[in-house]
Amino acid sequence: MNFILASSNAHKLEELKNYFAPLDQFNLELASEKIAVEETGSTYYENAHLKAEKYYQKFKKPTLADDSGLNVTALPDDLGIHSSRFGGGNLTDLEKNELLLSKLSEDREASFTCVLCFYLNPQEIFFFEGGLKGIIATEIKGDKGFGYDPVFIPEGRAQEMQNKGHDELITLAMIPDWKAANSHRAKACASAVQFFRERDGQSL
Ligand code: IMP
Repeated sequence: MNFILASSNAHKLEELKNYFAPLDQFNLELASEKIAVEETGSTYYENAHLKAEKYYQKFKKPTLADDSGLNVTALPDDLGIHSSRFGGGNLTDLEKNELLLSKLSEDREASFTCVLCFYLNPQEIFFFEGGLKGIIATEIKGDKGFGYDPVFIPEGRAQEMQNKGHDELITLAMIPDWKAANSHRAKACASAVQFFRERDGQSL
């Protein structure tokens, strides 16, 4: 299985390669050229599909695309599939996080979503989704990760820390190893790995 990644983001490539390392004969590489794809879909699925299809049509090779974002219950139209353009498209990650904190009060419920689209050819298109529930912190904390990690407190991890008697709230930007194993992207990739193992008859 040789795939091109519908992205020019080398960081994303390395992350995804690690998740797919358990699959025999799975190769992923960046496309030789970046294509501008307008994300005009109204769901993560539509946008992942749009990206994968555009790259497939251009390079005529099996393609993997991912679309992800932060869903914030109190701001249903502002983030989600528009997460990267929150605040108008010109803000840094820090500015986006500051803006997000300034807009929230009581209701701080949130979740991350990742949708992967494997576009093998126009007849074989497979989607995998992963999610991570949590809440938005009241301050920016942590210097690992990227994007909204410094304001996101994952549900499972917060519970785990409380059970151990830690009151401090932990953001995703403070726990890179936990994030690598439990994130929305990790879950979507784990589903894809299981699917391809079963499909190709590899033992689990
Ligand atoms: P894209 O799918 O690469 O376009 O990313 C969409 C937006 O969601 C970007 O603003 C990212 O910063 C944000 N995002 C997606 N996944 C994560 C994550 O794991 N941590 C923090 N932010 C994320």
